[in-house]
Amino acid sequence: MKIVLLGAPGAGKGTVAKMMAERLGVVHISTGDMLREAVAAGTPVGLKAKSYMDAGDLVPDDVVVGVLMERIQKDDCKAGFVLDGFPRTVPQAEALEKGLADMGLSLDLVVDLVVGEEVVVQRLSGRRQCRDCGAIYHVQNMPPKVDGVCDRCGGRLYQRDDDKPETIRERLRTFEEKTKPLRELYDGAGLRRTIDASVGPEETYQAVVDLLTAEGVLPGREGAAR
Ligand code: AMP
Repeated sequence: MKIVLLGAPGAGKGTVAKMMAERLGVVHISTGDMLREAVAAGTPVGLKAKSYMDAGDLVPDDVVVGVLMERIQKDDCKAGFVLDGFPRTVPQAEALEKGLADMGLSLDLVVDLVVGEEVVVQRLSGRRQCRDCGAIYHVQNMPPKVDGVCDRCGGRLYQRDDDKPETIRERLRTFEEKTKPLRELYDGAGLRRTIDASVGPEETYQAVVDLLTAEGVLPGREGAAR
């Protein structure tokens, strides 16, 4: 399968994509995770990206497109992938379409996770992530068994700098302005489907699996990925 998860920050793209990777064996590609790793490692991409990320703004298209295209050409993506946080602008969507076409591929579906703004702010402000394995928690909705410690790997949980209230507002504004136009673009291509993502992670995940099954992207109940 080759799908895009669309949706505002905090809609649950990362959580659902991680569940799909664990349960369906699909490759999960998060440009946000890749950029955070680049920042932590101090690579040239990381140095370019940091100031934009800190401000809640988008990293320039040429930087992100380069990172993404390099990633989807790797061998493990041949069996399919789920894109989380890419594309976020119309030029990125166009670059993706062209890059896939050059590889003889195209997207199967765009799954838009829809939630209201109040839910998004509540989720982002309580979100915590594992420094080591990237697992996502929430202080109220999905707390770890031991405060501040990852259930899966024992790593330390932290709050992303861009999950602080001032930056959350800026990220939502950026979503409205730059990412929402993708809805129209993917509607025009007949690829966008919506899912109510205001419910919990398990229900959202199940709704996505049901949708992918109904659309023929997944063969049967959590069967092998196309
Ligand atoms: P995320 O983890 O997807 O919320 O991304 C965190 C931050 O990384 C965003 O607020 C942007 O600054 C940057 N970023 C991630 N993906 C993209 C993208 N496709 N285009 C531009 N910036 C991105």
